[in-house]
Amino acid sequence: MTSSALAAAPVLPAWRAAGLRYFGLNFFLRQKFGGRVQKVSLDAGFTCPNVDGSVAVGGCTFCDNRSFSPSRRLPRLGIRGQLDDGIRRLKWRYDVERFIAYFQPATNTYAPVERLRPLYEEALAHPQVVGLAIGTRPDCVPDDVLDLLEQLATQTYLSVEYGIQTIHDRSLDWMNRGHHHDATQGAIERSRGRGFEICGHVILGLPGESHADMLATAREIGRLQLNAVKIHNLYAVKRTPLADQVERGEVTLLGRDEYIAALVDFLELLPPEMIVERISGDAPPDYFIGPTWCLDKPGVLRALHAELDRRDTWQGKLHTPSPSGRGPG
Ligand code: SF4
Repeated sequence: MTSSALAAAPVLPAWRAAGLRYFGLNFFLRQKFGGRVQKVSLDAGFTCPNVDGSVAVGGCTFCDNRSFSPSRRLPRLGIRGQLDDGIRRLKWRYDVERFIAYFQPATNTYAPVERLRPLYEEALAHPQVVGLAIGTRPDCVPDDVLDLLEQLATQTYLSVEYGIQTIHDRSLDWMNRGHHHDATQGAIERSRGRGFEICGHVILGLPGESHADMLATAREIGRLQLNAVKIHNLYAVKRTPLADQVERGEVTLLGRDEYIAALVDFLELLPPEMIVERISGDAPPDYFIGPTWCLDKPGVLRALHAELDRRDTWQGKLHTPSPSGRGPG
């Protein structure tokens, strides 16, 4: 073999060299932190502009947001108390000493910087917290908030999770999202290069979306060069407009085999360096309407691995690098 042929030989990503078929979150966290790290979910008492009337009322079709109404935003414990409580519960189940504080329900950048900073800093001050994850909407990151996030990213590992859901505006309208894909593109462009990880949430199986539509979202996610993605199928929980639509037969939820087939096709189109933080949805069983197969998370995972093996395929197998050559944020 010539030296030029040797130089052109593709380098396997570490997760493939380890025998995996996609770049999962646990592999990433073990690489980054040298051991197990768990997320602790925190409720900082935020509401959401899609609930309080700033953008819309009623919230997204699938979101059980009644508890996000401003009058009910009274978190049961402060940030430190929630962390201590969550860490105690996780340590009971796992052998783990390090944690990521995950600001999860509602829109966790929806407040002035003067309110956001002490909340994030209180979480970071916990001796067992090694990073932050902050879930938000693409239309809720003004420049001063991004400046704050950039500053935090100089001190710690920080992942900012944007609810993208889909790139198709008609689907965003269906879900009463209150923004279109251009808001997502703008938020990601403005977040890039600020030192924090950019993660996007995506839903497969939205009503009216064809298989080709879902794969168009995968290609766009790749083009946007996010650092990470969370994927799940559309599922319905009680007390939501979606639950009513499912019960009236107006919306059909994907079966497990259909979802797994779409998910594998989706993974094939993602860049190999994008962390796949989640591949299925979950909700407490007593809130859940369907599809019931979602409740068997180990079964979903086994079905995904079986399909990846059967097709002898992996994340990024069909990915075409962006011509811009731009690196992730
Ligand atoms: S899904 Fe997110 S953006 Fe939509 S209503 Fe719920 S909290 Fe707000």
